[in-house]
Amino acid sequence: MLDYDLHCHSTVSDGLLSPADLVARAAGRGVRVLALTDHDDFDGLAEARAAAQQHGLQFIDGVEISVSWRSHTLHIVGLNIDPAYPPLVDGVAGVRRGRTERARLMAESLARSGIGGTLEGAYRFASNPEMIGRTHFARFLVESGRCKDIKSVFRNYLVKGKPGYVNHQWAAPEDVIGWIRGSGGVAVLAHPGRYVSGKKPMGRSTLRELIAEFVELGGQAIEVVSGSHTPAQYAEFGRIACEFNLLASCGSDFHAPLESWRDLGRLPDLPLDCRPVWEAWEHRQDMPQAVNG
Ligand code: AMP
Ligand code: MN
Ligand code: MN
Ligand code: MN
Repeated sequence: MLDYDLHCHSTVSDGLLSPADLVARAAGRGVRVLALTDHDDFDGLAEARAAAQQHGLQFIDGVEISVSWRSHTLHIVGLNIDPAYPPLVDGVAGVRRGRTERARLMAESLARSGIGGTLEGAYRFASNPEMIGRTHFARFLVESGRCKDIKSVFRNYLVKGKPGYVNHQWAAPEDVIGWIRGSGGVAVLAHPGRYVSGKKPMGRSTLRELIAEFVELGGQAIEVVSGSHTPAQYAEFGRIACEFNLLASCGSDFHAPLESWRDLGRLPDLPLDCRPVWEAWEHRQDMPQAVNG
């Protein structure tokens, strides 16, 4: 089992634990190296880093940024980023402004289908009002008795073709990869298995075009072991990582104890032959002369 968890969320985005509580839970469940990757915001990193020091965990600054590629929404994780790098700071601030506007349109759309009060309702669940997202709407719709759980809210309201879904233009992949790499970080294509399943899946050949373009734009890694992947997908994306010469990452994508695909904690090993993403920074510390060779 791996003791790296390089993808999770706190109350700064759509998780339910504070950064410090998240770190404590990770430490208690055997994680040794943790990255906090809140959506489009860095506000939890300082608190998480301080908590990690107390628990003897290695902490990696991270972020998960939403992008639009063709008609798809994708997520790119940045690992070992510099959260003070101005283009990255400005870039995610732009994404958050887009979220504010989208939330208003989502609430209007829900109101047109007879469900009122969702904007105020969703904001009650957003500890960080700048980072409003679908999960906050989902929690409100569960609380108000509209649906039995978060998953059924997504199924019935917040995905393409349903009331409450708003088509949104997120950041461009080339910009996001540029911000992450410019800050010294590694750009990771998040949970690729989710792009080939669900409501409007992309085909396998489109996925390959996406990965080829991601590599061309400077993307360096792909999530192979993700909380939302099946074991068959660990193998599939492990092969793809090798084929495209990408580093392999792993993360639970934990949001909350009862809501998430997988809890924080130790994850299944990467497939043999995968080069782990932490080579990108651990080698940097051990053998700085080897980095750009
Ligand atoms: P947003 O970035 O606001 O569009 O929200 C995306 C977030 O919604 C993801 O990061 C997940 O936390 C959550 N999410 C998406 N699909 C589902 C689902 N089917 N069930 C539960 N949570 C979901
Ligand atoms: Mn999320
Ligand atoms: Mn994601
Ligand atoms: Mn995530």
